[in-house]
Amino acid sequence: MSTSAPQKFEFQAEIAQLLNIVTHSLYTEKEIFVRELVSNASDALEKLRHTQITEKDIFDDKLELEINVTTDDKAKTITFQDFGLGMTRAELVENLGTIAHSGSKAFLKALGEGEAKNTSLIGQFGVGFYSAFMVAKNVKVYSHSWRAGEPGHVWTSDGSGSYEIEEREGQRRGTKIVIELKDDCADFAQDWKVKEILERYSAFVSFPINLNGKRVNTVQALWLRSKNEIKDEEYTEFYKFQAHAFDEPRLRLHFSADAPLSINALLFVPKENTEKLGFARTEASVALYCRKVLIDAKPKALLPEWLRFLKGVVDSEDLPLNISRETMQDKALIEKLNKVITKRFLKFLEDEAKNRPDAYAEFYAEFGIFLKEGAAMDFTHKDALVKLLRFESSLTEKGKTTSLADYVTRMGSDQKEIYYLIGPNRAAIESGPYLEGFKARNLEVLFCYEAVDEYVMSNVREFDGKKLTAADHADVKLADLPKPEGALSEADTKTLTEWLKTTLGDRVAEVKASDRLVDSPALALNADKFTSPHMRRMMKAMNKDGADSPLRVNLEINPRSAVMKRLFETHTASPDKAKLVAEQILDNALISAGLLDDATPMVARLYKLLESV
Ligand code: ADP
Ligand code: MG
Repeated sequence: MSTSAPQKFEFQAEIAQLLNIVTHSLYTEKEIFVRELVSNASDALEKLRHTQITEKDIFDDKLELEINVTTDDKAKTITFQDFGLGMTRAELVENLGTIAHSGSKAFLKALGEGEAKNTSLIGQFGVGFYSAFMVAKNVKVYSHSWRAGEPGHVWTSDGSGSYEIEEREGQRRGTKIVIELKDDCADFAQDWKVKEILERYSAFVSFPINLNGKRVNTVQALWLRSKNEIKDEEYTEFYKFQAHAFDEPRLRLHFSADAPLSINALLFVPKENTEKLGFARTEASVALYCRKVLIDAKPKALLPEWLRFLKGVVDSEDLPLNISRETMQDKALIEKLNKVITKRFLKFLEDEAKNRPDAYAEFYAEFGIFLKEGAAMDFTHKDALVKLLRFESSLTEKGKTTSLADYVTRMGSDQKEIYYLIGPNRAAIESGPYLEGFKARNLEVLFCYEAVDEYVMSNVREFDGKKLTAADHADVKLADLPKPEGALSEADTKTLTEWLKTTLGDRVAEVKASDRLVDSPALALNADKFTSPHMRRMMKAMNKDGADSPLRVNLEINPRSAVMKRLFETHTASPDKAKLVAEQILDNALISAGLLDDATPMVARLYKLLESV
């Protein structure tokens, strides 16, 4: 067959943008291009192995499944050759000319989200094939598809706006990438340098990697080895390679099971929760293998959403070998895997909480939010997850937490419900008016500080048959306390509450004497059953409809408080002044509840009150 003339193509706009960033970046860890190209070679070999199972007619079928890296320090080149599945002409255009793959897409997306110029992201996402252009003057990709009828091609680009493809005969199966290095990157043509990089990043690639003819990696599917033979450092190295991570794993679970499915799994919890740091939502990234053959690096359905922070590998021999990425929708099987692994991981957390409570507390501080998400949304695992939740409470020290189970053991015999309060922090809850009534009755109250807590608590609803109840909810009934001396009489209290209702008019739905106040003169409870004070605050923050609906609260007053006793005296003696005081008391209560929308009228009123002092 004659070789046709080279054809010129423009890169897709996004690729051109990506290349522009990559080629001009001052990113110091340029060496990651080695990791990226080796992992592409390894992917291509995995795919070939897969293809061999179902396809008989494979081009150049006797080749070893290996990766050959060669360097030439005179010519300043580095070459990556794999005998994988190769690319046809159309595949060269599709795979190297358009943005169809995950790593680079995520990178561009993150850039779009305001991280522009933050080249450190290159290392985090790995911009895949294009990372070659960090070091290359020119890249040539020679490729021959496994499909016997297809000719070979060479793809060429200098990383500016375009590339060329030309037919090229006489190739072996697979892909050979020749990089002509930039002058200041000539180091990558040094054997010692590349050896070091390969050892660091590519130690676990499951195909032999030869550098200038010498084997550099030893094949290690760590998850298939027995636990007691594996050193901590090996686990850590594996984690870093497999998860493209730079941190040390916080927790790991390595287990195997035979029934109901054969599973070998090696799961890691990273050190940090990147979602918490403001990065995009974490993508599920526990990879699914069958006998070391990669099936899917990011199978969505393998684990529940709330376990998306996990890294690692799940290998199951029960997966049909010819399962492809597309038919991975073998739903029933994946669901089964999901069930077994999730259960096992929950059990693992339970053991951690019991056996290493400090490490668990640290884990929880970082990743507890995912467990809350699960407890609120995943009905199947709710019970196990609720047991794993931890809260500070009115009985714990600051920074120490309790489980719901421990809370229950401390409940008095007549306490029926589990109480919680939501607030920005411990100090705010402790100084607010809501806690004192519970404290006076020795009722423990859980403290919730996170925006999602309200949602979580109302979705969880109960634990061990006990209702989870917001302590600032209008319906909470508390037992009587012995009446202290010197409180307003019942008749006087009644007079005062009625006067307050008339005086405050539409701003209050109801005024009554409270059984939950000990020191504070008054507290406000939202009269709207469906929107808690906290919810209202959130809606306001998010500018949601309903946040501006007129606010009507129930005002509860404390007949034992000096302020109320004084108000009772003033409300007949000097009614004008008493009215100002009443309004101020309501505003104060609204402030404590986080419900005061506009403080301006309050300032004017306070001045008036001060005039009369
Ligand atoms: P990713 O590996 O995340 O898909 P890359 O930018 O590294 O992204 O590679 C883009 C695509 O180019 C790959 O998905 C693959 O289809 C193709 N490719 C890259 N290198 C090879 C190779 N050595 N053999 C076959 N195909 C390759
Ligand atoms: Mg890649």
